[in-house]
Amino acid sequence: MDSDTSDEISFSELANIIFEELKPFKLSFLLSVFLGLIGTLSWLYPPWAIGEITTFFSEYGGGDIDYVYLLLGIWLMFSIIRFASREISKYIGFQIAEGIGLTTRIKTISHLFNLDLMWHENDYAGAKMKRMTNGASGITEIIRIIITHILEATVVLVGVFFIISTLSKKISLVLGFFIVTYYILSFKLSRRASQQSLVVHKQEEAVDGISYESIVNISTVKNLDLSESLLTTINLSMEPLMFEIKKRIQYFRTREFILSLYGNTFQLIGILMVADGIKSGDLKTGDLVMFFAYFQRIWGATAEMASVTDRLLIKKVAVGRLNSILKVKPTIDVEGKNTMPKDWKKIELCNVSFSYGGEKVLDNVSFDIVRGMKVGLVGPSGSGKTTLFKLLLNLHHGYDGEILVDGIPLKNIDRKSYLEEVSVVLQDTEVFNMSLHANLMLASNNGGDIWQALDAANLKEMVDSLPKGADTVIGEKGVRLSGGEKQRLGIARAIYRRPQLLYMDEATSNLDSDSELKIQTALEKLFESVTAVVIAHRLSTIRKMDKILVLDSGKLVESGTFNELINQKGLFHELWEKQKL
Ligand code: ADP
Repeated sequence: MDSDTSDEISFSELANIIFEELKPFKLSFLLSVFLGLIGTLSWLYPPWAIGEITTFFSEYGGGDIDYVYLLLGIWLMFSIIRFASREISKYIGFQIAEGIGLTTRIKTISHLFNLDLMWHENDYAGAKMKRMTNGASGITEIIRIIITHILEATVVLVGVFFIISTLSKKISLVLGFFIVTYYILSFKLSRRASQQSLVVHKQEEAVDGISYESIVNISTVKNLDLSESLLTTINLSMEPLMFEIKKRIQYFRTREFILSLYGNTFQLIGILMVADGIKSGDLKTGDLVMFFAYFQRIWGATAEMASVTDRLLIKKVAVGRLNSILKVKPTIDVEGKNTMPKDWKKIELCNVSFSYGGEKVLDNVSFDIVRGMKVGLVGPSGSGKTTLFKLLLNLHHGYDGEILVDGIPLKNIDRKSYLEEVSVVLQDTEVFNMSLHANLMLASNNGGDIWQALDAANLKEMVDSLPKGADTVIGEKGVRLSGGEKQRLGIARAIYRRPQLLYMDEATSNLDSDSELKIQTALEKLFESVTAVVIAHRLSTIRKMDKILVLDSGKLVESGTFNELINQKGLFHELWEKQKL
C-alpha cells in the first residue's frame, strides 16, 4: 500500500475535497479570506508612501511638511488595519483548519471501524494510522497555506505588478519576467531539496525503527546479549544516512546561493532602469525608493509561492493517500439489513466453503447450533477453526454455501444488531490502556453491575487488592495484568455484555493450574445462560459439551458427544490420546 501510486489525486480533485470540507464553515471562511485581503492590500501602502516622502524631500525647499505627516498618519492607520485584520483572519481561519483536521480524523476512524476485516488484514495498522494523521494534518495545512500564504502572495504579486506598470511598462515587463523565472527556478530547487529531505527522513525512520525495536525488546536484548550486534547494525545504517544528510545540506545551500544571486541581479537591473528613468525625467527620485521596497515584496512573495507550491504537492500526496482509504466501501457493515431475531432458535451452516486468495481453508462444512447448545470445536492447528469463527462472527462474506439464522442468511443480518446478542472471548484478550472499569464499560453500555461481572470471572479478589481497585489503569496491552488475569478480564467483559451467544477461543496452555481452575469456574458460570461455541485446545474442558465438531484441513470430519467421539476411535480419539501423554 505504501508504494501505491494509484492514490494520486489531481489538483481539481484536491480543490473539490477542500471545498467540500470548507462548506460547513462557508461564512467564517469567507470572512477570514476577506480580512486577509484587507490586511494585504493595506500592506501595499508603505512602499508607495516612502516613495512619496522621498520625492517630497528631494524637491523640498523649506516650508510646511503637513503632507508628510498626513502620509505617515495614513501609514499608521494602515498598519493597524493590516495587523488587526491579518491576525483576526488567521484566528478565524486556523480554527476552521484545525477543526476540519480533527473531524477528518474522527471521520476516518469511524470509516475504518466500518471497513471489512479482510481489507484491514491486508495492511499494517501503523501504515493506516500514518495515512490518517498525515492526511488530516495535510488538509489542515493546506487550508492554513491558502489563508496565510497563497492569498497574500497573490495579492502582492498582482498589486505590485499593477502599481509598477503605472510607473513604466518596460520595468513592469522585466518584473513579470523575473516573477515567472524566479518562481520556476525556486520551485525546482526547493523540490529537489525537499525530495532529498524525504530521502533523509526515510533513512532516519529505518535507523529509528531498529533503535525503537531494540528498546521495546530490551529484556531480550539484555538476556541474549544482543547489544553489540544491534549497535553494529545501527552503525552500519548511519553511514548511508550521513551521506544523504550531506547531500541535503548541499542542495539547500546551493538553492539559497542561486536564488539570492538571481534575485539581487534583477533588483540591480530594476534599480538601473529606474535610475535611467529619473535621469531622463520620466521618473521621480522617490520612485527609486518605492521600487526598491516593492521589489522586496515581490521577491518575498514569489519565493513564498514557490515554497508553498512544494509544500502543497507534499500535502496533496498525503490527502490523496487518505482519500483512497475513504473511498473504499465497506461490504459488510452497511445499513438497511435485517435485524437479528431476538427469539432465534437455530443457526445452520449449509455447505460452507471459504478460501484465502485461492487457498481453500473451509471445505463444505455443515452443522447446526440449536439455541442453548454448547458446541466444542476442535482440530489440529491450521484446520480452519479461527476462520470458521470469523464467518460465524459475520466478519467475512466471501464464502460459498449459507449460514442461516432461523432461515435468514447471516450476510443479510445487520452486524451491529447481531453482535448485540454476542460476546466473544479470543485467545489473546486485547485490552486498552485504561482502567479495568473503563475496559469493561467499553464492552457494553447496558448499565449492568461491573462487580457482578468481575465476581463471575473470578477477578473480584484481585481487583480488590489493587491500589485503586477497578480504577487502576492496566497499562499498554494490559502489561500490569498476568496472562490469566487478562483472560479473566476478557471473560468478565463477555459476561458484562449479557450475551445470548458466546464465541470463545480458549487458550489456556500458558497458564498455571490455579489460573486455569479460576478460568474454568468463571466459564462454567457464563455457560449457564448462553449458547456457546468454543474452540477448545484442552480437550478435557469440552467433556460436557452437547456437541463436538472436529475439523481437519478445513473439512468437518467428526461430530458427536465426547463419548461418541472417543468410541469412534477417529481423529478426536487420536488427539485425546496425544493430550493425555
Ligand atoms: P486454526 O484456527 O484451526 O489454527 P485458521 O482458521 O487460523 O486455523 O487457519 C486455517 C488456514 O488458513 C491456515 O492454513 C492459515 O494459514 C490460513 N489463514 C488464516 N488466516 C489467513 C489470512 N488472513 N490470510 C491468508 N491465510 C490465512
